[in-house]
Amino acid sequence: MAEAAGADWLHVDVMDGHFVPNISFGAPVMRGLKTLVEETNTPFDVHLMIAPIDPYLEAFAEAGADIITVHPEAGPHIHRTLQAIRGAGMKAGVALNPGTPVEAVAPLLDDVDLVLVMTVNPGFGGQKFIPASLDKIARVRQRLDAAGSKATLQVDGGVTADNAADCVAAGADALVAGTAVFRGGPSAYADNIAALKGR
Ligand code: ZN
Repeated sequence: MAEAAGADWLHVDVMDGHFVPNISFGAPVMRGLKTLVEETNTPFDVHLMIAPIDPYLEAFAEAGADIITVHPEAGPHIHRTLQAIRGAGMKAGVALNPGTPVEAVAPLLDDVDLVLVMTVNPGFGGQKFIPASLDKIARVRQRLDAAGSKATLQVDGGVTADNAADCVAAGADALVAGTAVFRGGPSAYADNIAALKGR
């Protein structure tokens, strides 16, 4: 229904109750979701908030992930993990928690297709956007542009129709929203997504 209402990608938040305090679901459930959009092939953008990561990459690749984004704090060898994601034929992303400095992406720019700026602490939906994040988005944008990186700059956490334009003005290419899409039930999805897109 989100796809029919205008979602460009489907962002899948996988949480393990260990790396983050909440548990969501794993690869088999994601595979089930993927079968619902097989005809249109809407990209599955999988955000792994799990540790360790590497033992599960193949399962998510087989479940239909197009992009896998990981947190540098989730394992000792982020560079190897990013290479393993690309090696499995997927795009690789790195996620920056609110407490992770922008500089953390610098050594990884050749190895990522996406940089995700977390604008809440990962783990739960429905949290409030951290205002200082706009400055961080802008600094990541500068960093990507200065390096000539074509990586997508994605923002995830507390994104609403009220701050979406600010995120884009700061340099975001892609906005992730859960609560702001699904609030009001299925009949509201199209209007909610249109509002996020500023239409
Ligand atoms: Zn996410």
